[in-house]
Amino acid sequence: MDADVDVAVIGGGVLGCFAARNLRRFNLRVQVVEREFELCGGITKANTGIVYSGYDTKPGSLKARLTLRASRAFPQLCRELSVPFRPTGSLMTAAGPRATGVLQKKYATGLALGVPGLVLLAPPQIAALAPGLAPGVSAALYSPGMGAVNPWELGLAAADNAQANGAVFRTATAVSAMERRPEGYRLALSDNTILRARAVVNAAGLSAGQVSELLMPPYFQIRPTRGDYIILDPRAQAPGCIIQQEPEQKGKGATIVPTVDGNLLLGTSDEAVTRPGWTTTEASGLDFVARSALAILPGLDLSLTIRTFAALRPNPYWVKTVDGAVKLSTRSIEDFLIDEPEDYPGFVNLAGIKTPGLTCADEIGLYVAERLAERLGAVPNRKFDPSREAGPRFGRLRPEEQMTSPPATIVCRCQKVTEDEVRQAIRAPLPATTIDGVKRRAGCGMGRCQGGYCTEHVLRLLAEEQGLPVGALCKEQEGSWVVCAKP
Ligand SMILES: Cc1cc2nc3c(=O)[nH]c(=O)nc-3n(C[C@H](O)[C@H](O)[C@H](O)COP(=O)(O)OP(=O)(O)OC[C@H]3O[C@@H](n4cnc5c(N)ncnc54)[C@H](O)[C@@H]3O)c2cc1C
Repeated sequence: MDADVDVAVIGGGVLGCFAARNLRRFNLRVQVVEREFELCGGITKANTGIVYSGYDTKPGSLKARLTLRASRAFPQLCRELSVPFRPTGSLMTAAGPRATGVLQKKYATGLALGVPGLVLLAPPQIAALAPGLAPGVSAALYSPGMGAVNPWELGLAAADNAQANGAVFRTATAVSAMERRPEGYRLALSDNTILRARAVVNAAGLSAGQVSELLMPPYFQIRPTRGDYIILDPRAQAPGCIIQQEPEQKGKGATIVPTVDGNLLLGTSDEAVTRPGWTTTEASGLDFVARSALAILPGLDLSLTIRTFAALRPNPYWVKTVDGAVKLSTRSIEDFLIDEPEDYPGFVNLAGIKTPGLTCADEIGLYVAERLAERLGAVPNRKFDPSREAGPRFGRLRPEEQMTSPPATIVCRCQKVTEDEVRQAIRAPLPATTIDGVKRRAGCGMGRCQGGYCTEHVLRLLAEEQGLPVGALCKEQEGSWVVCAKP
């Protein structure tokens, strides 16, 4: 059905979900349009999940301002949205004069920015904080304010909260065309309906450039690069804090993150994307990740690998059209590109929001919402409730709490996800409708068997809850049966 709203948000990743949440702090009718079946399946599902403190940002930039604010507010945000935050702190290590010099600069920048608690450590202090580090680490920058969060859990919590406050979410619906109208914008959607909006937030992640060009001439372009990751089982010996490496040779160093669910995440390579939509891992990238992680933590047992994945970085470049030819700036835009082009009032491009976009998602949402509220003359929504309740997950309870919990049927043995939790994910106001959706909402399939045991159970529950035969949720693709979980 055609609809009229104050603000249309294109894209249901973490940025779109937090934009919607913050827009509902004002009396604005908000609709989020997401082209996939599930929210938070783009960049939001494949990143490092670190909550940054801001010492690595450029003084005076919007990124620096928002990261500092976001870092301070993060523990409270997680409490408000019932999302686990693991405040491990972070060590950035150096093993040579060049890298040590870089750390000293970062330390000075961090102090100037007012990042709390930064300490530049010498080898004996480093060994006490992170035993098991390779010999030869000459300095480390410790930032106690950093930690880990599950990125899609955070995004989905923002979506739940936005929806509870009145935002409408439409999934499996893409914005396919846009026009400027005197009263705002007219969006044509893939389900052949029209969405009229007084303002628009383009939070389309890697597709932000293409979405912007549905309306206006190109002025930025996203050129992705690929990064590979390795996930280890919780049995891997995790360091007590996040470890990032400033390599002695310029380039990417290892990042080692103890996640909120006790796994160890190793990242990441940085390679050009030579095929469109390239999201598979590459042996060269994985080899780089493994070697750089072992160079810092030689005791890591990589046989505990349970999964590998690749991520795409949305690097934004300025575009100029010279004599009909499109030219890109030589360097990618370093600051957050949050832009309302002069000729398109009320249309905000959130373009190429790279690290630390996850950390800053709520602050970016608030920044955009305040500007659009002012433009649209909106007043604060007195009924806005920032909090979201979520029951504890059985698998995250301490063993003694699990022992005293009511009896439950376990669907996912690795992560100890109960049948009731899977049903709740499928029945949620923003329901999971696919295997991946249930995985992101309930956590099943995330453990060492990677869904080998639970996929069939989850499929049966999805079919049962939707009143369909299991076969209706599968389709034949290239000669084999795949689960699409949505007819
Ligand atoms: C490798 C990597 C590591 C990172 N690590 C960190 C980190 O440790 N800490 C941190 O703070 N930040 C990190 N970030 C940054 C953070 O992950 C991103 O800033 C954030 O996830 C971006 O979210 P998004 O909502 O913009 O994009 P997405 O999650 O991709 O969402 C965009 C959505 O738009 C939808 N869409 C696209 N086109 C259309 C259309 N036409 N109609 C409707 N919907 C559409 C897509 O389907 C998608 O769901 C990292 C990023 C990368 C790439």
